[in-house]
Parts: sequence; C-alpha cells; structure tokens
Amino acid sequence: MDVATARMRLEVMLEELDRSIRVLKGDPVAVPERSAADAGADLTDADHTRAMLDVASRQRKEVQDALVRLDQGGYGRCVDCAAPVPEGRLEARPEAARCVQCQSKRERRR
Ligand SMILES: [Zn+2]
Repeated sequence: MDVATARMRLEVMLEELDRSIRVLKGDPVAVPERSAADAGADLTDADHTRAMLDVASRQRKEVQDALVRLDQGGYGRCVDCAAPVPEGRLEARPEAARCVQCQSKRERRR
C-alpha cells in the first residue's frame, strides 16, 4: 500500500472516529433528542457507551500515531523490531504499529 493511500485511509478513519466519539460523548447536535420511554434504559446504555468510547479513543490514538509515522517515514515498519509490517496486515488495519509477532507478544504481556 503506498503512502498516499495509507494517509487517505487513516484520515477517513480519524474523521469517522471523531464523529463516533462526539456522538458517544453526547454532543447535543449529534444526538437526537431521547424520548421519555428511553429513560429507563439509561444505566446500561451508559455502561455500553463508556465501553464503546474506550475502544474508539484507543483506536483514534492508534490512527494518530500511524499518521505521525507517515510524516516521519517510519510507516509500514514494526515499531518494536523494525521489520516491515506485511502488506495484508496494513490493508486490514492501516493503523497497525507492529508486525504480527510483536503484536501478539504485546497482547500476551497484558
Ligand atoms: Zn515486530
């Protein structure tokens, strides 16, 4: 994947994440007014929203980091071992910072 394509895809992702985060945070412009019937579901909704907000914020950070790597010329290389990140992996996740091995090592540590 060439750098221009990667940048375009990352910027689209960033925009979409920003939009979801705005909605999840309850931007009055983005959220349609709730009916009184919805009020009872608020508690579980709030938990659900917080979880989604967590995921969206984490992904937004990853996308931003990838854009920084694009600017600095490190994009497409694993941030841990500097091996090239396979093309197929970048296609699936343009924000991927690590090769498959380093990523799974990292996830095992958690
Ligand atoms: Zn690696």
